[in-house]
Amino acid sequence: MPTHPVIDSVPKQLRIGEGWEAAASGRTLAVDNPATGTVLCEVADAGPEDAARALAAAREAQQGWARTAPRARGEILRRAHEIILERAEDLALLMTLEMGKPLAEARGEVAYAAEFFRWFSEEAVRIDGGFATSPDGRNRHLVLRQPVGPCLLITPWNFPLAMGTRKIGPAVAAGCTMILKPAPQTPLSTLALTAILAEAGLPPGVLNTLTTSDAAAVVEPLLRGGGIRKLSFTGSTQVGRILLTQCADTVVRTSLELGGNAPFIVFDDADLDAAVDGLMVAKMRNMGEACTAANRVYVHAGVAEDFAARLTARMAALTVGDGTAPGTDVGPLIDAAGRDKVERLVRDAVGRGAKVLTGGEVPEGPGTFYPPTVLAQVPRDAELTGTEIFGPVAALFTFEDEDDVVRIANDTEWGLVSYVFTRDLDRALRVGERLETGMVGLNTGLVSNPAAPFGGVKQSGLGREGGRVGIDEFLEYKYLAIPYS
Ligand code: ADP
Repeated sequence: MPTHPVIDSVPKQLRIGEGWEAAASGRTLAVDNPATGTVLCEVADAGPEDAARALAAAREAQQGWARTAPRARGEILRRAHEIILERAEDLALLMTLEMGKPLAEARGEVAYAAEFFRWFSEEAVRIDGGFATSPDGRNRHLVLRQPVGPCLLITPWNFPLAMGTRKIGPAVAAGCTMILKPAPQTPLSTLALTAILAEAGLPPGVLNTLTTSDAAAVVEPLLRGGGIRKLSFTGSTQVGRILLTQCADTVVRTSLELGGNAPFIVFDDADLDAAVDGLMVAKMRNMGEACTAANRVYVHAGVAEDFAARLTARMAALTVGDGTAPGTDVGPLIDAAGRDKVERLVRDAVGRGAKVLTGGEVPEGPGTFYPPTVLAQVPRDAELTGTEIFGPVAALFTFEDEDDVVRIANDTEWGLVSYVFTRDLDRALRVGERLETGMVGLNTGLVSNPAAPFGGVKQSGLGREGGRVGIDEFLEYKYLAIPYS
């Protein structure tokens, strides 16, 4: 197993209470580098016994943590924000090694991730309540906001650092204790983050981190056992549904950030250069492995050919390779299963008549690479219209009419984000209002921002992360009724 200083510096054990521990079973789980197919290291592989101990630690710490001064909680986040920025290069490299994204993108994610801590460090001191006199004048109503209690945070592999800080930030600000379970493909970023929070002064038991290869065996007893008061999950809609069912049994509050199927609509009055730039971000950020990725690109028939030609030139010019190599624009996909899915969806679309303008062929050799691909004239019954591609494939459809494109864009069970390019302000607002998604990018391919409420409607999820409302998900209202004497 090759060693790497940045990997050597990360704890490989479970964080439970105040220490780092091996899994009770003694088992470990291998972390792979998707660019080379080699094993980077082994980390502890938690099971149900470890989960029970993590829950006990989180429950024990909850009351004291809830009483910690808001400013003190905010300062911990602020210090963690600063440490993340000081170690940005190491954290970026770690992320690239375990999940493949090019270093430049990994640096971008480190900055984005740190920003959630800064944002919520500022929100920690703004939790407030209310006071009112009842309509009949007999009672005082004093409204408090209190932490919901121990939270289970489950994160995906595609943004391993930012999905952690987006959940930990508001939980810490609100005064909740946590169990954090990262994706098995990317435990290292999460372990590094856990160590940084301890260094920043987070008290023992407030954040417990369980890396595991068997998510169901760790998560289900936690959710069904009754000690967890809140689940915050980012991942697939399929797993989100399973977790929502488990949460129903013990009435656990849930926030779910699930899959997307983003439409990207280019009207004939759009600035085509800006639209191509926007699509390069909305499609190629993270190699297309993002729930916000443009999945269906609808281009007005009058500009479809021009748009496709400009896009193809940009996509064909991208350099595919190991994310640690200078000049790489597109890294490997997360694993063989992820790449097989992309390949299958492309084959299906081509089989139904789509034209490959660039890409479309799996390269030989190690690493799970897939080339930037443009498909034109994709028929509306192609499987990828109803499936998240999660890869660097732009599927272009044409449309003629505003009403028609809004109807097709909304014809999906998902509703996370949509993108609209037009120079007509009335149309931008009209279409933006009619699209059934939690977020709309108007003449931009990037909506994610720690200061804005991120989340979806329909089967893309429940709740919002970030923005002023992000902390609400971790707070309960309590009202005290006090009669006037
Ligand atoms: P993806 O298909 O992109 O890997 P998943 O929804 O499978 O997305 O994974 C997101 C997160 O959910 C990961 O941390 C994963 O380990 C976890 N997960 C997967 N299956 C389950 C399950 N049955 N119960 C709890 N967590 C799960």
